[in-house]
Amino acid sequence: MEHNRLSKMRSHTALRDLVSETHLHKDQLIMPFFIVEGTRISDPIKSMPGIHRISSDVLVTEIGELLKLGVRSVLLFGVSSEKETLAQSAYRADNIVQKSIRTLRRHYSSDELCIITDVCLCGHTLNGHCGIMKGTEIDLEQTLDILAKIAVSHAVSGTDFVAPSAMMDGQVAVIRNALDDNKFHKVKIMSYSVKFASNFYGPFRDAYGSAPQFGDRKTYQMDYRNPGEALREVEQDIMEGADVVMVKPALAYLDIIYRVKQSFNIPLAAYNVSGEYAMMKQYASESGVPEKDLILESVIAMKRAGADMIITYFAKELAQWI
Ligand SMILES: [Zn+2]
Repeated sequence: MEHNRLSKMRSHTALRDLVSETHLHKDQLIMPFFIVEGTRISDPIKSMPGIHRISSDVLVTEIGELLKLGVRSVLLFGVSSEKETLAQSAYRADNIVQKSIRTLRRHYSSDELCIITDVCLCGHTLNGHCGIMKGTEIDLEQTLDILAKIAVSHAVSGTDFVAPSAMMDGQVAVIRNALDDNKFHKVKIMSYSVKFASNFYGPFRDAYGSAPQFGDRKTYQMDYRNPGEALREVEQDIMEGADVVMVKPALAYLDIIYRVKQSFNIPLAAYNVSGEYAMMKQYASESGVPEKDLILESVIAMKRAGADMIITYFAKELAQWI
């Protein structure tokens, strides 16, 4: 034999599908939503073409369409105009997230729809930081106390998962204890375990109204030079009771996704963030490369690296393609 022609396994579509090593299922997609007060609101987000801030009645319709396409998991962010020193609005029963969860639960059971709710302070504090600031430093104790209150109020409303994204030390343990103390043993935690201080969040901050008014988030979000520290963050979150761990962003961090998956036996989510979305949209429109090809290549890369589930603004499109 001269040589084994490996390319013979690539000759036809059916064959290529037969031998493909990575599979993306609709069940593994999570669609994020930005929810606002009001009715019949669908306000386009300029930096994220195709994505809107929507009111909860529109959310119900949108989720109905998603479910028909086979996507059954959503991540909710409440966009609040009420900004307060101690983020009090975030844990009020009449906050937009809590109200939306209750509305969704009237339409869909947990068997039909998995609701995941973001738990952080940055959308509710005056200065846009993810914790309560004392001068230029985070007041950890006070921040953890508020994060726990937010998580419990989401649980009361009927969420399936709370997803703490503040990158505060000990947040998973404090939330787990608070949930258990309030008899929400079945509410699960999807932790933003490895959230880097990234330049890919720009459009999200625009959509969510959460850009920090001073300083940056480098004192609590992770330094992108540190894969070893990422593993320590995941290990810590698992010890504290995380049920799913997350790496955010995804595309520039495929090595982190790979390392986490190789190191820990726990469901792993990758967050295909707003900047990645905007970048792909713009590249597709300017280059003429079909969006479908570009998005599938990128999301399959996240799966190949080891992500079990993908949080992506492309969930609806993907569901139509796969
Ligand atoms: Zn935050």
